[in-house]
Amino acid sequence: MLEGDEWLLSGQKVWTSGAAWSDWCFVVCRTDPDAAPKHRGISYILVPMRQDGVEVRPIAQMTGDSEFSEVFFDRARTSAENIIGEVNGGWKVAMGTLAFERGASTLGQQMSFANELQQILDIAVANGRAKDPVIRQRIADAWIGLRLQRYNALRMLSGAEGAEPGRESMITKIFWATWHRNLGKLAMDVLGADSEIADGPPYQLSALQRMFLFARSDTIYAGSNEIQRNIISERALGMPREPRPA
Ligand SMILES: Cc1cc2nc3c(=O)[nH]c(=O)nc-3n(C[C@H](O)[C@H](O)[C@H](O)COP(=O)(O)OP(=O)(O)OC[C@H]3O[C@@H](n4cnc5c(N)ncnc54)[C@H](O)[C@@H]3O)c2cc1C
Repeated sequence: MLEGDEWLLSGQKVWTSGAAWSDWCFVVCRTDPDAAPKHRGISYILVPMRQDGVEVRPIAQMTGDSEFSEVFFDRARTSAENIIGEVNGGWKVAMGTLAFERGASTLGQQMSFANELQQILDIAVANGRAKDPVIRQRIADAWIGLRLQRYNALRMLSGAEGAEPGRESMITKIFWATWHRNLGKLAMDVLGADSEIADGPPYQLSALQRMFLFARSDTIYAGSNEIQRNIISERALGMPREPRPA
């Protein structure tokens, strides 16, 4: 609701990554309840987190961290000029943000993926699992998957200059998310029985244990694997739109 030169926001937002340590968040909210189609009635607004109208409740995750939180807005305030794009034109901005989140923003992750794979390889060599033919196959597959991610990223970056990202960008999220979830499983299999033991009491997990647990969510956030497949089938392959409720 616009009041003078400020927006007032009320509502709840669950699963907000980084909320506990963020100064600002963006909120995609309904600003015209009567708009048809409905997506024409939402706006994209930047909101300061540190104010009385915003309550952040961190959620304890199985990794032992609280990477995301529930966030409650109760007449939270932000200046009218903090709207991005047009009033009621937030859908387009949100789609741009998602394209970035699913595509280019994930390129830096490949560095940490490479470090994780190297760590797994070092453990496999040290504990003898590298002699297991099935583990060797899986480590080689993981390496191939990482190279594919790199080549696809380079293809995306060199092809997208000044234009909409091409179809190759649509496979980015589902590919890295599935690859990383499988890497977590590989890490635990390479660790063997050690994967069951915490680094310290009461629940101090190693980096690889945390990676295994957190990577379960990679195929959910920023659009689940099923949603990614829907996007590919409809937008890349030109298949009919999935049935939607009236
Ligand atoms: C670690 C983590 C961090 C997150 N951080 C943020 C954040 O910072 N900001 C934010 O806004 N959100 C965040 N989220 C929320 C995240 O975006 C949603 O959880 C995700 O989009 C899935 O939506 P949902 O939970 O409502 O599941 P649902 O949409 O209810 O889906 C449930 C299941 O049904 C499947 N499904 C749903 N629709 C279809 C369909 N049309 N066709 C086929 N299958 C379908 C899904 O794939 C899934 O398996 C985060 C989530 C996690 C796990």
